[in-house]
Amino acid sequence: MRIILLGPPGSGKGTQAQLLVQRYGIVQLSTGEMLRAAVAAGTPVGLKAKEIMASGGLVPDEVVVGIISDRIDQPDAKRGFILDGFPRTVPQAEALDDLLRHKHLKLDAVIELRVNESALLSRVETRVAQMRERGEEVRLDDTPEVLTKRLASYRSQTEPLIHYYSERRKLSTIDGMMAIDEVTRAIHRQLLALGAVEPKTHGKTQGKSHARSAAKAAPANRGAKKTKSAKKAAKKPAKAARKTAKSAKSAKNAVTGTKKAGKTTAKKTVKKAAKKTVKKGAKKAAKKVTKKRARR
Ligand code: AMP
Repeated sequence: MRIILLGPPGSGKGTQAQLLVQRYGIVQLSTGEMLRAAVAAGTPVGLKAKEIMASGGLVPDEVVVGIISDRIDQPDAKRGFILDGFPRTVPQAEALDDLLRHKHLKLDAVIELRVNESALLSRVETRVAQMRERGEEVRLDDTPEVLTKRLASYRSQTEPLIHYYSERRKLSTIDGMMAIDEVTRAIHRQLLALGAVEPKTHGKTQGKSHARSAAKAAPANRGAKKTKSAKKAAKKPAKAARKTAKSAKSAKNAVTGTKKAGKTTAKKTVKKAAKKTVKKGAKKAAKKVTKKRARR
């Protein structure tokens, strides 16, 4: 499966990409992550990208297209991939189309995460606070000033991709304002409808590991909204209690039944014994009469 996640900074692309990776066993190809790694390693690409990234601008198309082309050829991307943060411009999307055609690969879907712009700043602030709490290095471009610039570049350069993919009938739009696991489920439903995934992959996200990682990915969202699975889990003890009560009742019935049976058996035995005594008594009396007659 090959999909693109589209959305402004702070829309949850990274979080959803990680959850989809766990669910479908495919890889996440994030150009932002790859560029940050290149900057940290001081490679020629990293040196080129460092300043641009720090100011919130876009790294030249040929640089990111080259990175993605090489990455898609790696063995771990054979099962499929999620593109996160790429393409970001129409020329990048066109280059991706060419690249996939040459590699004989098909794009399954483009998922747009639609969010209220007013929520983005506070989402990024939450992300920064959580990274600090975990002792992680905070991204240089996660500041209100740079975020404003990144949003402007999203609007002018990346948003046209919505039209680009919608014209090609590849676009699916999901409400990115829902709770994290609801967004994941909506994406899954969409992928199912498109035939991009097998129905059997459904149960996986209900598992503990998914729930745990979802919570880890966004502790700020905990307790925000009770999701369906949470409601189901809460109902379980009540269901179990009802079951226990039912079996207790049937056990009681079984005991009463035995008692009843016991009573019946006892009654029968008494009747039998009485009959026997009567028979014995009659026999004895008859014998006595016969003896008396014989003496006469
Ligand atoms: P991200 O982690 O996706 O928010 O990306 C962080 C920064 O990396 C962006 O603000 C850009 O400077 C750069 N970048 C990431 N992906 C691309 C791309 N596809 N095209 C150009 N620049 C990119």
